[in-house]
Amino acid sequence: MLAKILINTSVNTLNKVYDYLIPEELEKEAEVGKRVSVSFGRGKDLTEGLIVKLSTEYEEPKYKLKYIDSFLDDISYLNESRLKLAKYIAYVYFCNVYDALKLMLPPGTKSKNSSKSIETRKDKKIVLIKSTDEIMQDIESNVIKSAKQIQLLSFLMYTDNVLISDVIDGLSISRSVINTAQKNGYIDIVECDKERDFLKDLHVERSTSLTPTDEQKNVIDGISRYIYDEEYKQCLIHGVTGSGKTEVYLQLIERVLDQGRKAIVLVPEISLTYQTVERFVSRFGNDIAILHSKMTIAKRKEEYKRIKMGKVNIVIGARSAIFAPLDNIGLVIIDEEHDTSYYSQTKPKYSTKDIAAYICKEENAVLVLGSATPEISTYNKAINGTIELFEMKNRAANAKLPQIELISLRDDRIMGNTSSISLALKEAIEENIKNKEQTMLFLNKRGYNSYLTCKECGYVFNCPNCDVAMTYHKTNNLLLCHYCSHAERNVHICPKCGSEQISSYNLGTEKLEEELKELFPKISVLRMDADTTIARDAQAKILDDFKNNNIDVLIGTQMISKGHDMPNVTLVGIIGADSLLAMNDFSASERAFSNIYQVSGRAGRSTKEGRVLIQTSDSENYILEAVKHNDYNEFFDKEIDYRKTYGYPPFIDILLFEVSGANLEDVKSDAEKLYNILSYDNQNEYRVFSPKSPYIQKLNNRFRVNVMVKAKLNTAIYSKMYGKIKIYNAKKRANASLSITKNPTFI
Ligand code: ADP
Ligand code: ZN
Ligand code: ZN
Repeated sequence: MLAKILINTSVNTLNKVYDYLIPEELEKEAEVGKRVSVSFGRGKDLTEGLIVKLSTEYEEPKYKLKYIDSFLDDISYLNESRLKLAKYIAYVYFCNVYDALKLMLPPGTKSKNSSKSIETRKDKKIVLIKSTDEIMQDIESNVIKSAKQIQLLSFLMYTDNVLISDVIDGLSISRSVINTAQKNGYIDIVECDKERDFLKDLHVERSTSLTPTDEQKNVIDGISRYIYDEEYKQCLIHGVTGSGKTEVYLQLIERVLDQGRKAIVLVPEISLTYQTVERFVSRFGNDIAILHSKMTIAKRKEEYKRIKMGKVNIVIGARSAIFAPLDNIGLVIIDEEHDTSYYSQTKPKYSTKDIAAYICKEENAVLVLGSATPEISTYNKAINGTIELFEMKNRAANAKLPQIELISLRDDRIMGNTSSISLALKEAIEENIKNKEQTMLFLNKRGYNSYLTCKECGYVFNCPNCDVAMTYHKTNNLLLCHYCSHAERNVHICPKCGSEQISSYNLGTEKLEEELKELFPKISVLRMDADTTIARDAQAKILDDFKNNNIDVLIGTQMISKGHDMPNVTLVGIIGADSLLAMNDFSASERAFSNIYQVSGRAGRSTKEGRVLIQTSDSENYILEAVKHNDYNEFFDKEIDYRKTYGYPPFIDILLFEVSGANLEDVKSDAEKLYNILSYDNQNEYRVFSPKSPYIQKLNNRFRVNVMVKAKLNTAIYSKMYGKIKIYNAKKRANASLSITKNPTFI
């Protein structure tokens, strides 16, 4: 039997298939979509490949063909239509086909060279066997010198439940670094506890459909038409926070199951917690598979298998669940469709909504997008008719929308209040505590991490690998880079001027917690941010705690805005609105509006009315005005005008070419080359902008320079771009790399 095999290689030009023979005794296992291990090229090492075609009748080859070595999968996760999708992704997002195929394969089967490692790598847990103090001392006294060792141990010091795969895949730390740490007596490697089962842990009562409100009924009936007709259709449910979108999703799924078809539900990574899953499980029991990046790889593989074997009709997951091997799809739901986590930030940099639309079209399925603050591009499509629009303007269960007030910080400054909590907010919290009701305080993540600086000379402790300040973690005296995980023991002396006047700077969630406790010494406070939620399930635990133990105040970053119903939260205070308004790329306003609006929506979701206080120095800002009026359209009308005037999506597409490499001068000159190639012979079909450094210039020891192209993308432009890339690849330096993002979320 002859197999056409696509080889797993990062070399773009090797996007070709090669012929191999399948030994007779393996023929009955052969199947399109299965991975195989083959010897490729001159080396003896085995490489991973994937069968794209099989033929029993073929012409005798002219030269001697090799046999495949073995199969790496016991079942095939791919079929012809998935292979077609991979080709589409590769073309549209400028990546190679194998990278696109990897999105559709179960995780954790990354192979280096030998296929043996693929099968034998079983996940184990890493535990620290020395105390934090001992390790810190060893780092301090240079007993531990290697940067990789420090990175590994620092990560372990403040992260629970770490698996070997987390470290290898997530931190790019090699197995030998782990072995050294073990040999030196810092860590131990233990068998995984049998993993907690997401479903079995839930003691969920079965629920039945609620009687829909009139608004809900309209939406359900409207969308069901397309489900019954098995017709491809995109629908947007624009419903205010608490309008009962989830109940609509549940009832739509019921209908699609009645039709004998299946459904995928996507939610933002951050809101994929017990609470979200619970609502689906209580309705559909174990007819559900869950895909979550915080699950262990072994568990995710198991779920993949259940889906592929047809054991479930519903898949719930974050972005990548759109690639689950589910067949006979009748409905795809994308909840909180404005969320930026639907855009992949790593290669292939795809848009989940585009992929979902492609799949639904192929399967004659219905795509439902839902949000209180739809993405500008989505809403624009709804207005011009490409997407059918359904509105839900009222909260379900008789809850009222919250009262929103803007608090001018100027007044507070005049009164001499220097705290980050305004007098008005302080009063409101006091009142809330008195009434035994709960409060959420929201700080924006960006720009609010605390970092260390020298008071004397202003030196900032930056990451040596990246062009960013390292984040200061006070609890364990650690400086950590959130981009590359480089870690350092908190330094007491300024390396520039020798001063010992080092202080942590900027208001973070930790600082806010301190200020709050100073104002109200007796209250209970919980904090939820990147720092407190690294461990698996930490986020769910904090929210459960807050809800069930009646904690007075929850402080958090945007993660508190997502997906939880907290009936006793009646006050939301937004501390860091100004930092959101200050960001300046084309989609910043959109993100600011949706963030502030969504956080406001956490207030008063039940019978008690809610109140939102937004602190700002810019109380005439149009974004805040629109939030205050609870009026998405007021914001949309302004924003769409701006996009049109200045030429941004959805009126034009952006291709961002990123040149990166180890040497800044080389990268700059390559970017210049690219710019010239792109500009040459451009008959006004697109616009090229001169090379520009991104916000973070250096990341992981690689410098980056961007060249932006604005165009209305069509096949003519695509083929022109592919031609240009070919020319550039022939002329660029060998060690520079190029990555291209179609419509980046920010520039
Ligand atoms: P959204 O997803 O739009 O933010 P939810 O689906 O979380 O809103 O609904 C908000 C609240 O209203 C939930 O507590 C939900 O149980 C309740 N709810 C939704 N639909 C109904 C209904 N038809 N009857 C009674 N309560 C409902
Ligand atoms: Zn870094
Ligand atoms: Zn200094």
